[in-house]
Amino acid sequence: AFRVSVRDAPTVPRRPRRAAAPVTRELPSAHPLDGPFRNAPDTDPADPAAARWAAAAVAGPPRVVAPTALTTTAEVDAAVARAVAAGPQWAATPPRERARVLARAADLLEAARSDLVAVMVHEAGKTVAEADPEVSEAVDFARYYARSALALEDGAVAGARFRPAGVTVVTPPWNFPVAIPVGSVLAALAAGSPVLAKPAPQTPLCGALALDAVRVALREAGAAAGVLQVVSVPEDEVGRRLVAHPDVARVVLTGSVQTAALFASWREDLDVLAETSGKNAIVVTPSADVDLAVADVVRSAFGHAGQKCSAASLLILVGAAGTSARLRRQLADAVRSLPVGPAGDLGTAMGPLVEPAAGKLLRALTTLEPGERWLVRPRRLDAEGRLWTPGVKHGVAPGSFFHVTECFGPVLGVMHARTLEEAIDLQNAVPFGLTGGLHSLDEREIDTWLDRVEVGNAYVNRHITGAVVQRQPFGGWKASAVGPGAKAGGPHYVAQLGAWSDSPDVP
Ligand code: GLU
Repeated sequence: AFRVSVRDAPTVPRRPRRAAAPVTRELPSAHPLDGPFRNAPDTDPADPAAARWAAAAVAGPPRVVAPTALTTTAEVDAAVARAVAAGPQWAATPPRERARVLARAADLLEAARSDLVAVMVHEAGKTVAEADPEVSEAVDFARYYARSALALEDGAVAGARFRPAGVTVVTPPWNFPVAIPVGSVLAALAAGSPVLAKPAPQTPLCGALALDAVRVALREAGAAAGVLQVVSVPEDEVGRRLVAHPDVARVVLTGSVQTAALFASWREDLDVLAETSGKNAIVVTPSADVDLAVADVVRSAFGHAGQKCSAASLLILVGAAGTSARLRRQLADAVRSLPVGPAGDLGTAMGPLVEPAAGKLLRALTTLEPGERWLVRPRRLDAEGRLWTPGVKHGVAPGSFFHVTECFGPVLGVMHARTLEEAIDLQNAVPFGLTGGLHSLDEREIDTWLDRVEVGNAYVNRHITGAVVQRQPFGGWKASAVGPGAKAGGPHYVAQLGAWSDSPDVP
């Protein structure tokens, strides 16, 4: 056995530090910041210990944290003033020290994995199988953006200097209530901006508990409390004040196109970076591996009950209807046999909706448009309208309501195209361009599709949800994005959160 006692331990030379850097305290981190980025592993469901761990987790989190409620515009003004006051300290903190805070937050998030899974199950209706990888994604964002901060260090980009944007308001969604707030907040912090984060009103505890790891890492490093404030605001003039406040430099939104438009209407010069809606399709050609295609379509359409911007909402089958008869049969069988139930039951594959089905989703779940028929008819299982069995409608017509409208729930529409070209036309005929999939084993088909499909994330022979940090940076085209469009979990995301100024060498 090899053991190193404290006395024998080699002495590590002290890292030279800049003078007067406001945040320089050494932080303990189990993760080496200078090593290569590695994705955090999910819990292995095949391990018998995992089931015991998951059962204990869903029994409930021992600790719950809530956002600070701001109930008046005066309270919003005071919170923004705190962020403004904290800004210079954080901006002057060298990127390397900011990166250490992110690396520490990653470790704290990993340590809180079971609590985070528990709040996601109870508050957001996520299954353990969906919640556990979301914690991994949050940890990945922290470790990945820590490295992005290192890349901002002086000299990393010759002749250019990076300046933080300033006070940043982050408004994440309820569907990824841990990974998206953590990722958006840490990216802004990595870029040197103070942040006001407003978790979605449906999932305030998920957001507050996840961001508590960040708050603790900041506090340990000696950062002022104003560097990160986690708040809730009513969605009236108080919320409007937060978003449209003249001292807010930027808003980072993940939400609907309508919310992005509302924010823009509140302040003309508002700098919004938004990840918005999607209407995503998977195209399957006659050359596809049918078993793989069906499994990927089901996972993409019904994971978290279809409540992902990335979810598959359309399946476009190429070729004469006869060639896809087997696929349709297999799909219907697979969808009918998905176990639906409470999110906390470990056998559940599809849990409840975050809110009772209403509006466009209710229409999609209960109504057939001209030409459509049910391949699998959805059924409501509870009085409230949150628990539904998944549905598949066949014969969705080009240009119809279901073809072009994001419904955000457990309904999949099937369309037919004679050729791959026609299928791509149908896929591109929607206003959005977030994710898309192709199932084909023909290289020429794959090339054609990749050349023409108008989506940010194009997946071949894979499910179209669950983008993995670094490997599949996530972001959209067309109506799915507002702003410069660098993708989350990719190399340019943090760098777009500030301003670059050139300082050419003086001769
Ligand atoms: N990044 C998530 C995924 O790849 C989707 C995020 C969203 O729905 O906003 O599934």
